[in-house]
Amino acid sequence: MTDPAQTRGDLPDTLPSGVTGDPLGGVPHFRVLATDGAARAGVLRTAHGDVPTPAFMPVGTRGTVRNVDPEELRAAGAAIVLGNTYHLHFRPGEDVIEELGGLHIFMAWEGPILTDSGGFQVFSLRDTLLGRDDEGVTFRSVYDGAAARFTPESAARIQARLGSDVAMCLDVCPPAGIDRGELVEAVRLTTLWAKRQREAERASGQLLFGITQGAADEELRRRSAAEIVGLGFDGYALGGLSVGEPRDEMLDAVGWAAPLLPTETPRYFMGIGDPEGILEVIERGIDMFDCVLPTRLGRTGAALTSSGRLNLRNARHARDPRPLDERCTCPACSRFSRAYLRHLVNQGELLGLRLLSLHNLHFLLELAASARRAILAGRLSDFKREALGRLAESEETLWHS
Ligand SMILES: [Zn+2]
Repeated sequence: MTDPAQTRGDLPDTLPSGVTGDPLGGVPHFRVLATDGAARAGVLRTAHGDVPTPAFMPVGTRGTVRNVDPEELRAAGAAIVLGNTYHLHFRPGEDVIEELGGLHIFMAWEGPILTDSGGFQVFSLRDTLLGRDDEGVTFRSVYDGAAARFTPESAARIQARLGSDVAMCLDVCPPAGIDRGELVEAVRLTTLWAKRQREAERASGQLLFGITQGAADEELRRRSAAEIVGLGFDGYALGGLSVGEPRDEMLDAVGWAAPLLPTETPRYFMGIGDPEGILEVIERGIDMFDCVLPTRLGRTGAALTSSGRLNLRNARHARDPRPLDERCTCPACSRFSRAYLRHLVNQGELLGLRLLSLHNLHFLLELAASARRAILAGRLSDFKREALGRLAESEETLWHS
């Protein structure tokens, strides 16, 4: 980790309009160290430290990766966490967080933070959507039902006040299966809004990523990528995939869409976090990804292991003295048996949920780190084949997000 004080330097609190690509004062913010096929191993430099890529980003929806202390997150190998602008805007509000020193200090996580724009929540909670126009989107808050509005300018302002290291553009993220006309409109508005947010305020040293839309429609995705890349951002995301379309279609789209994004900036695939999916997108040239899966699965009593998914509620674990995963060094695996963890889960004990969440996070972070080492060694395809082979060993079926 670099010293934030050094990288932040004498940067002004907010950057002048339109400054993109050099928010860290001349320090290149991304370097590719090695490639293996389409896969890349690199480093993303932020105002709060470096992120080795490919990087799995645990999701801290409400300013916390649920059930996990930031110290434990760091020990599990997390280099960057994701914060949800939508939720933090409504509870406790960016004004409160700013007053208390920004999101890093507020949640006691000194490392890099990426914030989303809030757009995904607005467009995925369809029954709260009230309308959208060229200026922005109106919706009902899930907290109190009151009408609220996001615009590119407000998405920039909220993220500037939260003080994240990477801010995301407000985009229109439609669900899978909508008609093409609606997809065309999503691409048009996403570009229109990206253009405005690029000119809006930022926190000191804050990077801004653009998001491409267009689902798995090749013509629309190409149009979106050309428009968003043409504007110039510090990184680019594939949005609007992993939203309910068939898995093969999604992976195929990542394969041809990732190369539409520049090689010299990071590529972020939004919303994938199952072990097989992580390996597939890394192989296709993705550098960053996020998912709530490890903590959500933990709450249901399920564990991700190197030999596949385990459902601890299954009676066959009742007298099993083995750890969840013989290959894992996390606190759950180094000290507790499957039988004990199953007992905790069945009794609804908080320790059980915490340990499972910690294990799942540790497992996915280690998987991404191992893939990175394999890329650096030029043996990603062997690594992937071996890992997928082991993942298929479990008698409990493979799980996809
Ligand atoms: Zn473990």
